[in-house]
Amino acid sequence: MDNKLFEELKEIGFKNIDAIDIYKKELKDEPVIEKKINMETYLYDRTVVCPVCGDSFKTPSVKSSAYKTSGKESDFYINYTLINPYFYDVWLCNACGYAAMKSDFDRLSQSERKTILENITSQWTGRKYPRVRDENHAIERYKISLLNYIVRKSKNSTKAITCLKIAWMYRLKPEEKFRPLEIKFMEEALTGFKEAYYNEVFPIYGMDKYTTMYLIGELYHRINDYDNALIWLSNVLTTPGVKSSLKDLARDQKDIITIKKKQKELAENNDTETHDPLVQDLSEKTDSSNKKGLFGKLFGKK
Ligand SMILES: [Zn+2]
Repeated sequence: MDNKLFEELKEIGFKNIDAIDIYKKELKDEPVIEKKINMETYLYDRTVVCPVCGDSFKTPSVKSSAYKTSGKESDFYINYTLINPYFYDVWLCNACGYAAMKSDFDRLSQSERKTILENITSQWTGRKYPRVRDENHAIERYKISLLNYIVRKSKNSTKAITCLKIAWMYRLKPEEKFRPLEIKFMEEALTGFKEAYYNEVFPIYGMDKYTTMYLIGELYHRINDYDNALIWLSNVLTTPGVKSSLKDLARDQKDIITIKKKQKELAENNDTETHDPLVQDLSEKTDSSNKKGLFGKLFGKK
């Protein structure tokens, strides 16, 4: 960079100041290496036998002592403090391409096995992952797992929970360009959970029917469909027999949505009242005493 921002200072003796970048990001090599070493200490190798091809392979797993949490988000994403176990949730056989969440890796029928061999293994070319993983690896592995679930016609709840976890992994990525993908996978999760709600036997992945009812409401909230969110969350509140902790969660989210809805309505009203406000208000000399738009508020009443 040749920005010469400090030209004057040369006269008083400063040297090597032509290429100074004021906001230069320092490379942090050491902490990254240190972090990787630390992550290793939370992992152990687990030997798994693939139920599709019979191959035996090792997969890094999180030690039970490393499962430290610092709370849960309103759609049940668990914040882990030491290492993120979601990065190690999918087991993948590199010999045949069979992948599934570890909780149901061993559960598949002979006909499903055949379907995987015909539709996944036939296209599988292999993929290597580092031992210490991040959200990008997790996104890819959850997607391979989802593809397996689709091919073997797994339950809607299984596909829905996988879509939700993919959305959570996108949420870990701060760049704005990933928000549409996070929302897209939440929408897909929502579709599957609604199907599961009406057609499956509970519990599903540790959730009873009411918890699923709440989650559907909260997912509607997160995709900004406030009306449907309020319907499902209100159902949680009015259904007898729902435990009080779940009702509290539903009440909290309902309150937040109600506020957001009001804010949205206010913003929309302001938009219509102060459409092209600068031009309009200047031409009218803002002498209206009951002007409520943004411009009116800024300059006060006459
Ligand atoms: Zn295999």
